[in-house]
Amino acid sequence: MVIQKEKDAFLALLKEQSVLKNITFMMQWDTHANIPPKGLDDRLESVGYISEKLHQLNTSDKMKYYIDLFKEDPDDELLRQIALECEALYDKNRKIPQQLHKEFVMLKAKSEAVWQEARKQSDFQLFQPYLEKMVAYNQQFTDYWGYDAHRYDALLNQYEPGMTVELLDGVFPKLRTAIIDLLGRINGSDKEINESKLTKYFPEANQKELSLALLSKIGFDGQAGRLDTSVHPYTFAFHKNDVRITTRYNPNDFRESVSSALHEGGHALYEQNFADKLRNTPLAEVSSMGMHESQALYWESFIHGSKEFWEANLDVFKTHAPKEFHDLTASDLYQSSHVVKPSLIRVEADEVTYPLHIMIRYELEKALLDGEVKMSDLPGIWNEKMKDYLGVAPPSDREGILQDIHWSSGDFGYFPLYTIGMMYAAQLHHTMDKELHVKQRVRNNELEQIKGWLTDHVYQYGKSKKPLDILMNATNEPLNPDYLITYLTGKYSDLYEV
Ligand code: ZN
Repeated sequence: MVIQKEKDAFLALLKEQSVLKNITFMMQWDTHANIPPKGLDDRLESVGYISEKLHQLNTSDKMKYYIDLFKEDPDDELLRQIALECEALYDKNRKIPQQLHKEFVMLKAKSEAVWQEARKQSDFQLFQPYLEKMVAYNQQFTDYWGYDAHRYDALLNQYEPGMTVELLDGVFPKLRTAIIDLLGRINGSDKEINESKLTKYFPEANQKELSLALLSKIGFDGQAGRLDTSVHPYTFAFHKNDVRITTRYNPNDFRESVSSALHEGGHALYEQNFADKLRNTPLAEVSSMGMHESQALYWESFIHGSKEFWEANLDVFKTHAPKEFHDLTASDLYQSSHVVKPSLIRVEADEVTYPLHIMIRYELEKALLDGEVKMSDLPGIWNEKMKDYLGVAPPSDREGILQDIHWSSGDFGYFPLYTIGMMYAAQLHHTMDKELHVKQRVRNNELEQIKGWLTDHVYQYGKSKKPLDILMNATNEPLNPDYLITYLTGKYSDLYEV
């Protein structure tokens, strides 16, 4: 029997943990958004200091005491889940020797700098020794964390608890075959989608108003969040009542800011709709990075990327668009946002070819971690796979293997989440559609029903449920790539008349 005093003390410790997290976030946000260059060094020192305090709290004997006290508590399910989450964090932090972690953090800064230089010079050989070290550190980490079937599982699990190589190897090949087949048909189509009607001057202030108006339509709570500007759009959530998102403006292509705002808006809806009982606990976070991405992609692609969305919001568009855009129809807006063109750069890829970029990285990461590939062969293998999957070959390392920052930061196991998220989104959509008739809801501007469904099945749980359990409970099925295949094939066969 746990006494109330112990519960109160544990909750107070969690509150302290949550406050320290908020302080770090606030400093990081300000560092991203506002800091003058000369202020950076002192700021990083402050971030380091508070992060260290948080680390100490998470790995303290006091924390361990409460974990052991509550992790088997039969009377309080929520407290039990919180204790288990704290335990996962405690174990993760304690398993890696501090010295090793410190070395890794220091190497990371150097490695990122070398990668930037290598990219500039388009010279993989310059970066190669650092990539070797980054792989070696990750191999050591996975040894400390432990894994069953595949070393790579331990890396995937940092971001996507429960996800395995076995599962991904079971779904990716099918998805790849279907996409390559669809891409072949699109490439053979005579249909040309004309973007020129949309790529005209659209003042930044109008783009911002349009983005805000559409964000409010999807249910983004402007009293519990803000929209700001940054080079790379992102979402920063302090807690459910303070969710900051950013977008960027291209004066000659409003599509970039609007789709980024709705992507980040999707992330924000998730963050703003955790159940209140999770506040100030480590469960007031998204279930996983893949589930987080699924929500951003859902609102960006399935809702904003539908013809019905533009039919329902054509008046909103015209209210904020300059008069040169006033003869556009919903069909123009829809079609011109769906050009498919295989490209070399992942971040510029459309939704059809994007998963192919991910699969190349996934296959190479696995091979690297398992030591199955010679480092110097990597650029060649990369280029070969680009040709096989996308039909385009990078003319240089800069546009090939050196394009992403992830490996230089030692982030392995992250790339697959983008495509896992898209599969989650498609599968959730399939079930939701049977219950709500999504097109009808979008056409009638009843988006609150969609947000409500997602809140009931995904958002409210925060981190108290694992992503694959959320998926299974919501759709009654394990991960199934068919729904994404159906979505992409249906949408683009129609658009390209193939
Ligand atoms: Zn995202």
